[in-house]
Amino acid sequence: MPEGLNIIVLVKQVPDIEKVRFDYEKGRLDRSSAGAVINPFDLNALEAAVQIKEKIGCVVTAVSMGPEKSEETLRDALARGADRAVLLSDARFAGADTLATSYTLSCAVRKLKLFDLVVCGEKTIDGDTAQVGPEVAEFLGIPHIAYVEEIRDVNLAEVTIKSRLDEKCYVVGMRFPGLITVTKDANVPRLPTLRDKLRSRKAEVTVWTASDLSDFAEEQLLGLSGSPTWVAKVYAPSTGKGKGQFIEGTAEKKARKVAEILVKLGALR
Ligand code: FAD
Repeated sequence: MPEGLNIIVLVKQVPDIEKVRFDYEKGRLDRSSAGAVINPFDLNALEAAVQIKEKIGCVVTAVSMGPEKSEETLRDALARGADRAVLLSDARFAGADTLATSYTLSCAVRKLKLFDLVVCGEKTIDGDTAQVGPEVAEFLGIPHIAYVEEIRDVNLAEVTIKSRLDEKCYVVGMRFPGLITVTKDANVPRLPTLRDKLRSRKAEVTVWTASDLSDFAEEQLLGLSGSPTWVAKVYAPSTGKGKGQFIEGTAEKKARKVAEILVKLGALR
């Protein structure tokens, strides 16, 4: 290890969820109906990496897979403290489900070669599956810890974190290389200064196509051809109209009335 760690942060550009419309016929978001922002959870991922950089030194590389427009997201990441940015953009990546997305991202991480820690957001606000982080770790054959809400300690060899799963907290140590996904509780993302924003506009964003990943990726596993899942139909579930009834009186009277209703409904004998 030359100096500090090499941290890769995966960031996704997502539609502004307040404004985006849903195309029910096609079963997908109409991304043209709203502006795009960096996935909010990925701001926490980036902040976690930048805080480690400030503590023990590291090179932070932001990687995003998406259309050309995702370059904006990477410039935002550069303004917020990333040192390098790589955009994976190619028509051959399009239509990817979480498996193909994770495969493509893991191939890019392999191409970057030097990495100790990969940091992802817990989930995205559009796809919302929370699958990509753990799947990337599987493709890379490295351990992962999901739902990290605090980085307790970090050194050049390992990280100690607190994660919350099923209402339980776990304090876990992980040797590098590894992957973590962070929640909104992990930190408060910093705001970039005007100077940082101006600097990021001039910074270089490396663009890799499918051909650039050819030494690491099998082409049929990218994009639509590498996606075993598809959206058959999207609809708002019917919530039904529940009937409600207020029962007044003493506790005993209320209990009798509830029992009567349950017997009438056949739920109680
Ligand atoms: P999550 O698993 O919730 O994300 C967790 C973390 O992983 C993020 O916080 C981030 O750190 C990282 N991450 C996730 N995605 C990326 C990324 N792209 N780049 C960098 N880091 C990332 N979406 C489209 O936009 N266009 C399509 O054409 C399209 N076609 C699809 C077709 C099918 C059949 C299916 C099932 C899905 C399709 N999607 C498409 C949605 C797409 O699969 C998901 O957006 C993508 O796989 C990421 O999943 P997610 O948003 O649930 O990420």
